[in-house]
Amino acid sequence: MNTKINLLNMNREELLNFFQKIGEKPFRGYQIMKWIYHYYCNDFNQMTNLSINLKKKLAKISEIRAPIIKKKQISLDGTIKWTMQVDTQEIETIYIPEIYRTTLCISSQIGCAVGCSFCATAQQGFNRNLKVSEIVGQVWQISKTIQLNKNITHNKYSPITNIVFMGMGEPLLNIKNVTSAIKIILDKLGFGISKRRITLSTAGIVPGIEKLTDIVDIPIAISLHAPNDHIRSKIMPINNKYNISNILNSVNKYSKHFKSNHRRITIEYILLNHVNDDISHAHQLAKKLKGIPCKINLIPWNPIPNTPYTCSSRIRIHKFLQILLQYKINTIIRKTRGADINAACGQLTGTITNRINFNISNCTNYTNNIAVNNIT
Ligand code: SAH
Ligand code: SF4
Repeated sequence: MNTKINLLNMNREELLNFFQKIGEKPFRGYQIMKWIYHYYCNDFNQMTNLSINLKKKLAKISEIRAPIIKKKQISLDGTIKWTMQVDTQEIETIYIPEIYRTTLCISSQIGCAVGCSFCATAQQGFNRNLKVSEIVGQVWQISKTIQLNKNITHNKYSPITNIVFMGMGEPLLNIKNVTSAIKIILDKLGFGISKRRITLSTAGIVPGIEKLTDIVDIPIAISLHAPNDHIRSKIMPINNKYNISNILNSVNKYSKHFKSNHRRITIEYILLNHVNDDISHAHQLAKKLKGIPCKINLIPWNPIPNTPYTCSSRIRIHKFLQILLQYKINTIIRKTRGADINAACGQLTGTITNRINFNISNCTNYTNNIAVNNIT
């Protein structure tokens, strides 16, 4: 059994403590972080500013181990799905290049226990929480690949500018590891990505939102997906535990806590044909959100097998959008990316093999962000 301590599990504070505990100067923690996150080095022997004794000591008791990249699939739209191995399982990480930014969509759990009826990850069931090393390890592996490519070829990949917790799993059900990973992503000695470029998406785990308020101040996205509790409970069983008003209350508190940027809340709303996409639902939704500082992302549903749903038509989606705009709510239709390789929202399953073959004709597929409304 491998008993070595994986330094990728530790944020700055924990690394400093670690070095103190093994009788070394805490500043060694700073040095190690730089080697790991700035130079993508995981071999103590190559860390030139460490003494030979320290290198030996570290190699004996510790390691720097990220998930292993197993597979890379490239979508016609440039999106890349990386499959990585953790233990005997596989997780998925999505690289989404756009003109002004490049987003990495990372996983927080193996599978998911929340059981939303429209989501492929839910069908996989829940295996376990990802460790900090497996969360930051996804960013580390892809950043390292980008860096290596930059040195070998003519900068084939653009560097990661944004991180979204929208891959496999519910991040607020793994809040301890997720927030520790966020600290490393934000840290200047880590990946140094700024707060406003990280988004955590949640199905509305109310105690998690409240806890998050005390730990990190990052934009959050709420998977609301319904204009009332009746519909939401049908499509998201978690609504029986945390209903819409519970969620909106906690979201309101979250946004007030971070007054400096109270357009931080994104409401995500998947459009399911004749389930939650009627005109009356749009009116209901707009009224529910009155007074909440938020913007809405309408998400055309990405088809997955064994569900009762179909995609809303383009006309229904646009009618829905128009109503929200009438209420002066900043709303966009989220671009669908990577659906041809099952890399789009809700299509991630890791080890599961019974995947749908994407057929462009059975889905309302948006290749551009549509109808951005800059009403503030
Ligand atoms: N568990 C978190 C984050 C991962 S899911 C959450 O639920 O928010 C990321 C986003 O994909 C969520 O908004 C989720 O509702 C959405 N999603 C799930 N299945 C989908 C599907 N089949 N088509 C489009 N979006 C989907
Ligand atoms: Fe889990 Fe999010 Fe999928 Fe719901 S939508 S099952 S919370 S991953």
